[in-house]
Amino acid sequence: MVRRVGAQAREVRVPADLDGLDALIIPGGESTVMTLGIEREGLAEPIRELVERGTPVLGTCAGMIMLDREHLGLLDVSTRRNAFGRQIRSFEADVELAGVEGGPMHAVFIRAPWVAEHGPQVEVLGRVEDHPVAVRQGNLLAVSFHPELAADPRLHELLLEMNGAGQRPVAAG
Ligand code: GLN
Repeated sequence: MVRRVGAQAREVRVPADLDGLDALIIPGGESTVMTLGIEREGLAEPIRELVERGTPVLGTCAGMIMLDREHLGLLDVSTRRNAFGRQIRSFEADVELAGVEGGPMHAVFIRAPWVAEHGPQVEVLGRVEDHPVAVRQGNLLAVSFHPELAADPRLHELLLEMNGAGQRPVAAG
């Protein structure tokens, strides 16, 4: 998807991989496992610095959880893990997103979180069953679903457009 929107993709596993990035995507997976990997490689501080420099970041599913108050503390939200239920509650939905033109996005939710609570600087872009599933705070964009699984590049395009538009996010404690 990154290549499709005209960018080059690089996997980030250690802090040096962050050097010179124009944008960062924290993908889905398991937030518990990702927390261990971030700790082991000492990635938390370099990611915070990258965000403070205004680099656009997209967190998807577990990536949204990683950005929240309880994890990296970059996005002023509390998330609820597996909020829609376990595997059986994986589902697809068409979600209208503020700031994304051209109709609703087809969204694939896999043991997805939702945003349970958020601060005033957080803009809710989209909801499912009235729960926020897409939010933006400055240069941080986070969605509960997997935009890479539906062949719709609009969120990745938005991420690239956010380059240079970043404002300092407020880190919560
Ligand atoms: N349930 C996972 C977690 O809590 C997220 C699932 C996903 O990223 N698809 O970390």
